[in-house]
Amino acid sequence: MQAHADLKTLNTFGLTAHAPVLVMIGKATELNELASIPGFETKDWRILGGGSNVLLTQDVGKPVVRIAIPGMTVIGTEGADTIVEAGAGIIWHKFVMWTLSRDLYGLENLSLIPGTVGAAPIQNIGAYGVELVDVFHSLDAWDIRTGLIRTFTADDCAFGYRDSVFKHEAKDRYVITAVRFRLRTVPDLKLDYGTIRAELEAMKITSPTAKDVSDAVVAIRRSKLPDPAQIGNAGSFFKNPTIPTEQYESLKAAHDQIPGFPSANGVKVPAGWLIEQAGWKGFREGDGGVHAKQALVLVNYGGASGDQILSLARRIQADVAGKFGIDIHPEVNIW
Ligand code: FAD
Ligand code: NAP
Repeated sequence: MQAHADLKTLNTFGLTAHAPVLVMIGKATELNELASIPGFETKDWRILGGGSNVLLTQDVGKPVVRIAIPGMTVIGTEGADTIVEAGAGIIWHKFVMWTLSRDLYGLENLSLIPGTVGAAPIQNIGAYGVELVDVFHSLDAWDIRTGLIRTFTADDCAFGYRDSVFKHEAKDRYVITAVRFRLRTVPDLKLDYGTIRAELEAMKITSPTAKDVSDAVVAIRRSKLPDPAQIGNAGSFFKNPTIPTEQYESLKAAHDQIPGFPSANGVKVPAGWLIEQAGWKGFREGDGGVHAKQALVLVNYGGASGDQILSLARRIQADVAGKFGIDIHPEVNIW
């Protein structure tokens, strides 16, 4: 346990903020002991994994529980699928590599997403045409109010586009301790998204394996995204908005290059395109800015404050709304 803990190295934006007390949890059973520790009686805590999807705008006024629960196990089969379980503290990419090394498939397109297994369901992580929900089996979560473990099915999690029940009514109420996945023993490769095929071609691979797809995704991501170890960031700062089809058609008349992807409730428009068109790509003010290769990623070049990043985000939101009539909303959790 650490009092007045500096969270700077525990968030990928590299922002300085203090927590009154920080506790690392290495086993689910340790959660039961927390309520008796001074500072934790309130049952009102912040939960932290790898800190790759949070923006710390100020000191955290609540105790912080950092989840470091280990473990990766094959627990059985269901029909043709293999069910595996990972502890919430396992690093996501390490888990993806572990599954591929055991010839278990389904996570390859989600390679190199930062953070922990336990945080992956929170926003139903997604990339290159695959979302966590596609391979999700169930999860265990410790209820902060009752101290009991509850098992959630996919329906209970109410997964949506970068969304789940844990961002709404279950927010800050449950500590996810373990997640189970339904993986295939025969690959069903998803190659049609973005530049995966082009990357495989560049790698001179004609009959790709799942590991080849993972390698291609890793290569694409390394070429486009800032490495948080070099430049502070939390990945995409905003979610891609979905707008009504009629609004998309009228925008298309004015901006013939505007990309759009039909989705359940209308058309999904890449927020990065809107921000770039509004002129923000590569913008820098002090140590806060918009990444030069991907306008959806806000960056801290070293000395920016969380408040500075938040006010930049608000300016971008207002500008995009003014220029396109589209509201974009943060994907990052603002603390
Ligand atoms: P944290 O940032 O620590 O926490 C995020 C939220 O989850 C917080 O609200 C926290 O309270 C909660 N939380 C964390 N752990 C638990 C737990 N065990 N129980 C309950 N609540 C918990 N995301 C994508 O979806 N797709 C991408 O392709 C992608 N690419 C990225 C690339 C970069 C360079 C970066 C920096 C981020 C990217 N992200 C992406 C965002 C981020 O990696 C994911 O959201 C990731 O799942 C966050 O994991 P974390 O452990 O760092 O969570
Ligand atoms: P990209 O390939 O340049 O595409 C731009 C946007 O268009 C993406 O956001 C993507 O939406 C959408 N898109 C592209 N092809 C699509 C298709 N065939 N069908 C539906 N939507 C499509 O994107 P990028 O920035 O390099 O990112 C590549 C992938 O990694 C994306 O899936 C992205 O979500 C993910 N990623 C996420 C984060 C994060 O922090 N959340 C950070 C980096 C990368 P989607 O985002 O809905 O896929």
